[in-house]
Amino acid sequence: MQGRVLLLNGSTWEPLAVISIARAISLIMAGKAVVVEESERVLRTVNTSFAVPSVIALRRYVNVPRRKAHWSRKGVLLRDNYTCIYCGVRPGDVVRGKTLTKMDFTVDHILPRSRNGKDNWTNTACACYSCNHRKGNRLPSEAGMKLRWEPRTPRTSYLVIAIGSGPDAWRHYIELDAANNPLDPDE
Ligand SMILES: [Zn+2]
Repeated sequence: MQGRVLLLNGSTWEPLAVISIARAISLIMAGKAVVVEESERVLRTVNTSFAVPSVIALRRYVNVPRRKAHWSRKGVLLRDNYTCIYCGVRPGDVVRGKTLTKMDFTVDHILPRSRNGKDNWTNTACACYSCNHRKGNRLPSEAGMKLRWEPRTPRTSYLVIAIGSGPDAWRHYIELDAANNPLDPDE
């Protein structure tokens, strides 16, 4: 059976893995996990039918060592939900008569690479091409531009891509190191 299920840890509900539906169902049948969210699909057997889970959680907390955050361009775009860190536009927004798509966003280096800026979670953020171009090889302060939030290292970075490209219901479970809420834009 096609499909994937997000597995959360017990009690903390932090994402642990993306598993197959068969594995998820066997965990539930064994009493090791509970259903947190159901998908809209229904699985029918001879005697019964039930909703296919989309998110499940272990009944007990398991101690999992934190893996080191692996940086990637795709990971940065997903972490920032394709929102420009400078002007706040998102896919679907209309700018000068054009509806933006995910293709209109890139990864900006806060400290530019030409000035030794590194490829890491805190030095990179999603930006629209217009802001990325305007900033050029300058620091935001030199370009008179403000970050709308501070880029953070995701706690569960190794799962950001899997979760970010999964169903919307999963996005809720991406945890960041600290609040990643945009600052008040009027500040
Ligand atoms: Zn922008």
